[in-house]
Amino acid sequence: MESEQNIAYDGQNSKPMEGVFHSHLEEKVRPYIDLIDSFRLIGIDEDLALPTIAVIGDQSSGKSSVLEALSGVALPRGSGIVTRCPLELKLRKIKCGVQWRAVISYKEEFTEFNDPSLVEGYVEKAQNELAGEGVGICDELITLEIMAPDVCDLTLIDLPGIVRVPVKGQPEDIGHQIKNLTGKYIEKDQTINLVVVPCNVDIATTEALKMTQEVDPEGKRTLAILTKPDLIDKGTEKNIMDIVRNQVIPLSKGYIIVKCRSQKQIDDKISLTEATRVEREFFRRHDFFSCFLYEEKASIQCLATKLTQNLVDHIKKSLPLISEEIKKQLWSLRKDLSQCESSPPLDPQKRKIFFINTLMKFNDKISCLASGDVVNDDNLFVILRSEFKKWKDHLDSTKASFYKTVQEVVAEYDLKHRGRELPGFSEYKVFEMVVQKLVIQLTGPAIDTLKVSKDTIQKQFLDVSKTCFLNYPFLQSVAMNKIENIQSKQEAKVEERIREQFEMEQLVYTQDGIFFKTLNDIHAIDGQKASEDNFAGFDSRTKYPEMLQAYYEIVAQRLADQVPMLIRYFMLKKSAQLLCSEMLGLMDGANVAEALCEKSDISRRRIDMQTRVERLTLAQDKLSNFL
Ligand code: GDP
Ligand code: MG
Repeated sequence: MESEQNIAYDGQNSKPMEGVFHSHLEEKVRPYIDLIDSFRLIGIDEDLALPTIAVIGDQSSGKSSVLEALSGVALPRGSGIVTRCPLELKLRKIKCGVQWRAVISYKEEFTEFNDPSLVEGYVEKAQNELAGEGVGICDELITLEIMAPDVCDLTLIDLPGIVRVPVKGQPEDIGHQIKNLTGKYIEKDQTINLVVVPCNVDIATTEALKMTQEVDPEGKRTLAILTKPDLIDKGTEKNIMDIVRNQVIPLSKGYIIVKCRSQKQIDDKISLTEATRVEREFFRRHDFFSCFLYEEKASIQCLATKLTQNLVDHIKKSLPLISEEIKKQLWSLRKDLSQCESSPPLDPQKRKIFFINTLMKFNDKISCLASGDVVNDDNLFVILRSEFKKWKDHLDSTKASFYKTVQEVVAEYDLKHRGRELPGFSEYKVFEMVVQKLVIQLTGPAIDTLKVSKDTIQKQFLDVSKTCFLNYPFLQSVAMNKIENIQSKQEAKVEERIREQFEMEQLVYTQDGIFFKTLNDIHAIDGQKASEDNFAGFDSRTKYPEMLQAYYEIVAQRLADQVPMLIRYFMLKKSAQLLCSEMLGLMDGANVAEALCEKSDISRRRIDMQTRVERLTLAQDKLSNFL
């Protein structure tokens, strides 16, 4: 093995690989392959599909042998299932004289080596790690990048061979799994499908060809390779000739017939270079197939040329699509980036200013919120007004029962309430107590209004802190704590004021002028009129319900405004002021670095987007020379 590899790669030995590829790369072809190569180098293949070549075929059809012959790299081969994970073979041409180098990567693994004879071992190891030892398969991609002077910049993907019947140890649906995996690669418009079919089987029944026909019926991006021409049964040569001449299953890209190393040649350690020579000789001397050499339908050499040409044509066709795709992605990335705020500067002075600005922005928003601007999705004042309205509705709803209660007291006065007074007189205190008792019952609903309002206001404050400090978990939690603290304290304060208010209501007081005005408003309907001068005739118990109704009206009006005003003043205005000044307090002595510490996924996402924008822009630049 060692000696063969040396022949294949050591520049000092004969002519390595006879330059299967690079001698055919004319000036016109090279730039396109270079362009795609440079796209891969900047990582564009992470953003969009680049033109690639996928090698598919039934098991043991000779896929790996073809790849090997094309790349000059010995891959794991043999009978049974050998390729068990998709293997992306990136071939990179480097300057003559520079040492052969390869990198194998999969998952987190990344190994660099410079001995070609290690390729097989590393690929096997990778497959065992990804698909487990044995005969299972796996979707995970292994990337093998080979940098050698005698390869061309081609990327080929070797896929597990298609099998129909599972062998011992394989899951029942292995055939299905492999077909699924293969399908993922061959269905992409960017992929050239290289279908490998051995000459010694009935081509019409090969699964691989059937699959490509499904995704590419006219064979516009399918190139078929017939292998093992040395193994055909005597007498079937004519059939093979018809196939190669595209007369059996026509494909626009046609067929090529190649002869790779047989198992015996491998065992005999025939080098790849030697094998190329042997192949030529085989075709040259063949009774039937020699004509294909002139028709350019035979040999690895010819396949290499055709593949390169095909790839270049394919690239040319793809460029406008790639350009479109790049534009589309750049547009949406730039949009996303503009929404994702800039990161804090690293310079300490600038960072401090950034910090202050961040706090100021938050304070501005909070002040706006408190003064009635709509800064969130929901309009705070609309919600509050409807809450306050509910409070007033509740007050109004109690009026009727208040009137009724007073009426009852009047009716039952002599029976239940009358004291030492002579009949016809009544004691004010009795009615005062009724008012006191009924008004104090409004305390609960008033406090409920406070609670609901507090929740609404607090939620909106928290929403502001979430949007302003989206990227800064530390600031967000500081602000949240402050908001909750301040809101609780303010709520306690308002609750105290409300209770005080109800204690004051026990005084049962209003200005005479206000009382009479309200009373008259009530009586305007029945034409009676009361005033401070002519009220003498009014002092009769039957009038109490109306009179107290007027008073209750005044209380209801007072409370209808008072409770909302307390809430707006303490919960909103004062809270906002307190919050803003506490946030400003963070400016001195705060650990700016800690405060501006970003959520790791945010900064990662931003960096990721920026990197993508950079490489897409770079790709766009490179592309502009070609369109
Ligand atoms: P894969 O499973 O499709 O990757 O097939 P391999 O490349 O591993 O080849 C299967 C077997 O066929 C190996 O033993 C190869 O040496 C042998 N083989 C491949 N191509 C030819 C060929 O053109 N002629 C002969 N005689 N054997 C070949
Ligand atoms: Mg294989």
